[in-house]
Amino acid sequence: MEGSGLADLVGYCGLYCNACGIRQGKIRDAVENLRNTIASYGFDKIMPELSQWEPSLKHYSQFEKVMDGLVKLFGDCPSCLQGGGDPNCQVRACAKQNNYRTCTECGEADSCEKITPYRKYYEDAAKALKQGDIREFAEEMQRKVDKGYSTP
Ligand code: SF4
Ligand code: SF4
Repeated sequence: MEGSGLADLVGYCGLYCNACGIRQGKIRDAVENLRNTIASYGFDKIMPELSQWEPSLKHYSQFEKVMDGLVKLFGDCPSCLQGGGDPNCQVRACAKQNNYRTCTECGEADSCEKITPYRKYYEDAAKALKQGDIREFAEEMQRKVDKGYSTP
């Protein structure tokens, strides 16, 4: 991705979307890994037989649907600005309503409860944006991501 496009990956709260483990595919990959491991033993084909020993396994087909759902919901996040993340995110709704690119422009951020769960991202962005612009912040974050940085 070109440098200028990276700025669009900074969410309203300050989270850099490429650093998010979900966008990096951690849930999708974990599901795929589990499916492949189960299939490598052929267990996916004999769940009804296995349920004699472990009754919960008779629900395996439902579990597969849940795994599909996890991949559907968390497998391919388009980023905050493109509508990814929590569809009901109050931070995004509020910042957009106030016409702020990020919450770092807001005078109420220090006492804002909406941003509490994301305060670390907000603070990192606020600190960086005192010294440079959003593109520089995004590029710095991308360098960290390229070296393996990921948020839980
Ligand atoms: S959806 Fe909300 S929590 Fe997620 S990056 Fe955007 S503003 Fe932050
Ligand atoms: S009040 Fe300010 S800091 Fe809180 S969510 Fe809205 S824009 Fe962000």
